[in-house]
Amino acid sequence: MVKRIAILGSTGSIGKNTLRVIDALNSSLVARRSSLEEGKTQYAIRDTQYEIVALTAHSSVELLAEQARRYRPKFVAITNADYFEQLRSAVGDLDVDVLAGPNSLIEIAQLEELDIVVTAIVGAAGLPAVLAAAEKGKTLAIANKEPLVIAGELLTRAARENGGTILPVDSEHSAIFQAMQSGSREEVSKIILTASGGPFRKATAAEIQNVTRQQALSHPVWDMGPKITVDSATMMNKALEVIEAHWLFDMPVERIEVLIHPESVVHSLVEFVDGSVIAQLGVPDMCLPIQYALTYPARVAGIGKHLRLEEIGKLTFEKPNLETFRALSLGFEVARTGGTAAVVFNASNEKAVQEFLAGRIKFVSIIKLVEDCLNKHNVKTSVSLEELLEADAWARREVEIEVHKSIRA
Ligand code: NDP
Ligand code: MG
Repeated sequence: MVKRIAILGSTGSIGKNTLRVIDALNSSLVARRSSLEEGKTQYAIRDTQYEIVALTAHSSVELLAEQARRYRPKFVAITNADYFEQLRSAVGDLDVDVLAGPNSLIEIAQLEELDIVVTAIVGAAGLPAVLAAAEKGKTLAIANKEPLVIAGELLTRAARENGGTILPVDSEHSAIFQAMQSGSREEVSKIILTASGGPFRKATAAEIQNVTRQQALSHPVWDMGPKITVDSATMMNKALEVIEAHWLFDMPVERIEVLIHPESVVHSLVEFVDGSVIAQLGVPDMCLPIQYALTYPARVAGIGKHLRLEEIGKLTFEKPNLETFRALSLGFEVARTGGTAAVVFNASNEKAVQEFLAGRIKFVSIIKLVEDCLNKHNVKTSVSLEELLEADAWARREVEIEVHKSIRA
């Protein structure tokens, strides 16, 4: 059997890990075949080959060209069209169609031949493609959480109505998805999302006032792209994940909790009505949830290390500090409000994180800008895609104006 894959955002942290997982899955296929030929294999053989049909990047031309040379996809796309000529000449000797511009992602997401679309783009920029894939009834392995946060209702409905499947890649949501299989949906009483707490878990509100870019980018457990690493430091990431879980599992916000778990071994938990709590545990490595989304519903041996609890010894849990991590309480409020509140929450954060990474604002200004933007916004409920995008653009502009004002002051 062959599974044909497109990876949207193949040059990022999740994209590169997805390729590593696919390498391992394909090479273990070779290993299993050769051991079978030698008559050594006793166990059942799962004969799935993973074929890369399309890869995309925003501006990382060299890496994308290198990936194309190695995986020989039929399509490569560069969303920043300024790099089109550079990419075309870099892969000129390969038999590959080169696409450019944001709409190329939609074209790729809807290719007939695809079995799985892995969405590993960062930010709301991934929304049109994710939505297009859901409307085509594709199987989506979603890492790109922002589209679910801002358009969860539209996306989950599009998948439902068109026979699409959404498989979470975010480690917490993969854990919940796995734990959910222990009972029926009606038997679930609550979802408990775990959070490492990020680099400032123990910091007080006063101590995070002068955090540097480098400190914010030093995550104690996970090695990820810059945007999500900053989101983990502010705990905005967990706030976004609460909203993501709300849509993915159709769970009222009142039944979602967050628990700090610095070891990041218990990836999340589901409590059932009888009081049983089912958790998924594993070494903190994104290859595991990525692989599960690719092999689902099967489980196969992969590159992920196996957990040795005796080496870890202790697993600890604590309540989040909502005073230091205002983002988390805002996230719960936004999830309860719904409509364009989540769009503004996400977009103002994306813009503020960019400004922080560019050295124009302080770390603590990120959530302050998000909160101010939310306070100014008139929330609309039951909105169309156009209205969502309008609210998104409005929030980004608001943050930009505020940052300009603060620089001039
Ligand atoms: P990265 O920044 O490492 O990678 C982002 C990818 O998206 C790159 O391929 C990048 O291309 C591409 N990209 C960037 N901007 C655009 C744009 N405007 N349009 C189209 N493509 C774009 O991010 P991560 O891999 O860390 O994260 C990806 C998503 O997965 C995020 O939504 C994140 O929240 C989520 N996630 C990530 C985890 C992780 O471990 N990293 C864990 C759980 C969830 P280029 O290289 O050219 O810039
Ligand atoms: Mg996560």
